[in-house]
Amino acid sequence: MLDQMDWDLLDEGLGASVEESLYFSGVPKSKPPTTDISEHEFSCHCCYDILVSPTTLTCGHNFCRHCLALWWESSHKNECPECREKWEGFPKVNILLRDATDKLFGDVVRQRRAEIKNDPKITRSLLAFQRYGDNLGRTKTNQHKGAGFFFSGVLTALSCVAVVVLVYHWSSGVVEQHDPLISKPVSRWTPEEVLSWLEHLGPWAQLYREPFQQENVNGRLLLMLSEEELLNPPYSIENQAHRRAVLAELDRVKTLGVKPPQNLWEYKAANAGKSLFLLYALKRSPRLTIFYLYLFDYSETFLPFLHTCCPAIAHIEQSVESSFLSSQLEPNWRQWAEFLVKYLLLPYQLIAEFAWDWLATHYWTSRFIIVNTMLLSVLEGCALWRLWTGAAIRTLPRKMWNHLWKMISQGFAFALLWPFIPQFVCNCLFYWALYFSPIINIDLVVQQLMHPET
Ligand SMILES: [Zn+2]
Ligand SMILES: [Zn+2]
Repeated sequence: MLDQMDWDLLDEGLGASVEESLYFSGVPKSKPPTTDISEHEFSCHCCYDILVSPTTLTCGHNFCRHCLALWWESSHKNECPECREKWEGFPKVNILLRDATDKLFGDVVRQRRAEIKNDPKITRSLLAFQRYGDNLGRTKTNQHKGAGFFFSGVLTALSCVAVVVLVYHWSSGVVEQHDPLISKPVSRWTPEEVLSWLEHLGPWAQLYREPFQQENVNGRLLLMLSEEELLNPPYSIENQAHRRAVLAELDRVKTLGVKPPQNLWEYKAANAGKSLFLLYALKRSPRLTIFYLYLFDYSETFLPFLHTCCPAIAHIEQSVESSFLSSQLEPNWRQWAEFLVKYLLLPYQLIAEFAWDWLATHYWTSRFIIVNTMLLSVLEGCALWRLWTGAAIRTLPRKMWNHLWKMISQGFAFALLWPFIPQFVCNCLFYWALYFSPIINIDLVVQQLMHPET
């Protein structure tokens, strides 16, 4: 149907204005071969000239397509210019009539087509008319999909209810049990809490449990430990790698004021706003978000992220001591190259690799994230393919610029609104993005693959 309309649009030369046409009607025309047929029978009741691309309305009246477009544009009504009856749908060119006028009045029609084509005003209104018809067609196709949309709506509503119920369940403390140390200031840690912190550093830290226990090291004392004190008895941490690891972790605790989070839930509990922001921003715009992390959150988030996604082969053995310590090393050029290639081509792959690393800690959550990143990659590929095939690739820089502004303004809006968002709503949004957006994306990917042109 669309093809036919496009063809009509090209075919129907886009004619002279009404006055011009009236003028041209005085010009002698080619003689019709049959004497019974007069020009009057094939004339448009708008311009009183031979019909060009005759378009039949539901009332049965015929007009030149450009006359109809001009009338439609100026009157803002879907009415027949002659009898004022409303027309239904989008009027089409009457092919039989068009072929007949082309045959009978070939010269006149050709001349008028050329004139229409050279008149920018008429060309514009014809295009507007065509666009109106295209939109009408699209709405109709969407109505046909109505049933599917109804079920999608029901699914979304049910998912919303499920999220609210689950979040209520989780936030009542059944599942979300995390280490209280991530929110308790170090200076108030008891000796037992210091020991539990030490154990979290890794199995190697077991060696030094005894002296810490004997010395009754509490949080305040822990903060004052220097490298010399750790080296000398009673602590005697003679292994340099171990000592550096303890000091690095201690530095981190000093900077944060609390114990650094060990998993996603602790991270979320400690940085509710940041985790929500990262979850949504990485999904919407992974490249911009990673660039943002590079600029503003380099050592705390960006470096560990890079080292996880593009690990340096030489560092693997060292990282046994302290993953944090090795994550603070400057990446080598090989890591940077690998990272940049993935960053530009498959940014979601980076996120998937990061989630892969957490597979042991978060069995299901990591799997959800990995599936979601694959779906998002497919969606991004489809969008690019559409731009490419639609020859709209030239609009890509403008689109990217608009996207940049949109993300920056949304980021600012989020930062401003954040203090007013209740914890419960924040949890709902968090779990929604984590567990339910993959389900929606499956739906989107299926739609994309079934109707690649939409
Ligand atoms: Zn006309
Ligand atoms: Zn009519």
